[in-house]
Amino acid sequence: MFRFSTIKDYHNALQNGQTTCVEAVRFYADAIAQKQHLNCYIDVYVAEALATAAALDQGRKDGLPMGRLHGVVIGLKDVLSHKAHRLSAASAILENFTAIYDATVVKRLIDEGAIIIGRQNCDEFAMGSSNENSAFGPVKNAIDETRVPGGSSGGSAVAVQAGLCMASLGSDTGGSVRQPADFCGIIGLKPTYGRVSRYGLIAYASSFDQVGIFGNTVEDVARMLSVISGADSFDSTVSQSPVPDYSREIAEKSARPYSIAYFRETLEHPGLDPAIKAETEAFIKKLTASGHSVKAIDFKLLEYIVPTYYILTTAEASSNLSRFDGVRYGHRSAQKDLDLTDLYKLSRSEGFGREVKRRIMLGTFVLSAGYFDAYFTKAQQVRKILSDQTKSIFASFDMIISPTVPAPAFAIGQKNDDPVEMFLADIYTVFANLVGIPGISLPLFKHPNGMPFGLQVMASHFDEVSLLRFSRDLMEVGGKA
Ligand code: GLN
Repeated sequence: MFRFSTIKDYHNALQNGQTTCVEAVRFYADAIAQKQHLNCYIDVYVAEALATAAALDQGRKDGLPMGRLHGVVIGLKDVLSHKAHRLSAASAILENFTAIYDATVVKRLIDEGAIIIGRQNCDEFAMGSSNENSAFGPVKNAIDETRVPGGSSGGSAVAVQAGLCMASLGSDTGGSVRQPADFCGIIGLKPTYGRVSRYGLIAYASSFDQVGIFGNTVEDVARMLSVISGADSFDSTVSQSPVPDYSREIAEKSARPYSIAYFRETLEHPGLDPAIKAETEAFIKKLTASGHSVKAIDFKLLEYIVPTYYILTTAEASSNLSRFDGVRYGHRSAQKDLDLTDLYKLSRSEGFGREVKRRIMLGTFVLSAGYFDAYFTKAQQVRKILSDQTKSIFASFDMIISPTVPAPAFAIGQKNDDPVEMFLADIYTVFANLVGIPGISLPLFKHPNGMPFGLQVMASHFDEVSLLRFSRDLMEVGGKA
């Protein structure tokens, strides 16, 4: 029977003739069909994937070179444009919309031989932390199906967790890759802002959004990152700096012990689950014992980062989502004889879900004439202070560590009536997006309630090499490699 461990092993098995891409696709198609109730895929492209797989198998027989993702079976969060396939950001406002071009990341995957197996469920327009805000219904955590998988990229996380693809792409605006990775017990990486093109990614908050990667091993994530990173003439916010071969870089042993900081306030936070606090503290001791230097530093601004994030992202969202007007594409109200204003109003009222409406209203409010300076300008100032502080921290430290989320996966429905409680749980992840640094969640721990949880590691801008090297070491220290 087909078994997947790492992309490298899979490639060896293909080269030795022990398996084929067709066999891999059949395996995943069966597994997805068996686990349909998890609701992590919105669409599955079995016939198309089998045809691609057959062509790849033939290519190997004909002696064609293998791409870096040859035959790798990958799922895409429903915010990434995939030409001639449905794309809806899990929203009714984009029902029946078909993408007319490939996102840059999708094109790069396909060019390296990846097989796209399907479109994955998420929170509507990537707004949420539980995957309950989806027009396609909630996704279930495969470890405990009564619990949420996290969000917004919940479907993409569960697909990797439950063995329903080899890796997947999500998006991370405030934690949407790292938080579901934490809840599901897998690896989730958010690269530096500007490392990966956003062309073809449906925008939530453009100065925060980054495409991120879910995988089972640091090696697989590194390989995916090398493929999707780098300059793109379609997105001027992408850095021109050359893309390292991350796989090769991490294959070499870490050159030195790292100098690591953690914010004292994160571990002393009253909202932090005691078991998560205890495990994280014990792990810090292990790190010190294994030769790294770990120091607590003061971070007085912790309480400001969630409000700053929600002011700025809702402001950007209210602008980005104004393009969904019922005129050009997506849902249009069926009511007759509407004037233009009512057509906009009704189409948007019918098409958007509750959380998206809440954020459009919040964003419109913080941008409105009388409140702009009190909210938007202030939040921009806090963001600038955070960036300055981050630079000075990385002048003395290589990494910052923290728990990824203050509590493990919660029950489906548990937080639905309290959006503020849901927002506050983003406390550890939004920082990396506010200042643009890369962050990863590593599945190192298990809560006494049986659920997994992670350690978040953040590095300086464009230092994914150190981040991934250190991550590989941490998986070893944590006995997970
Ligand atoms: N949970 C955060 C939010 O709801 C993060 C979302 C994201 O990263 N897309 O905004």
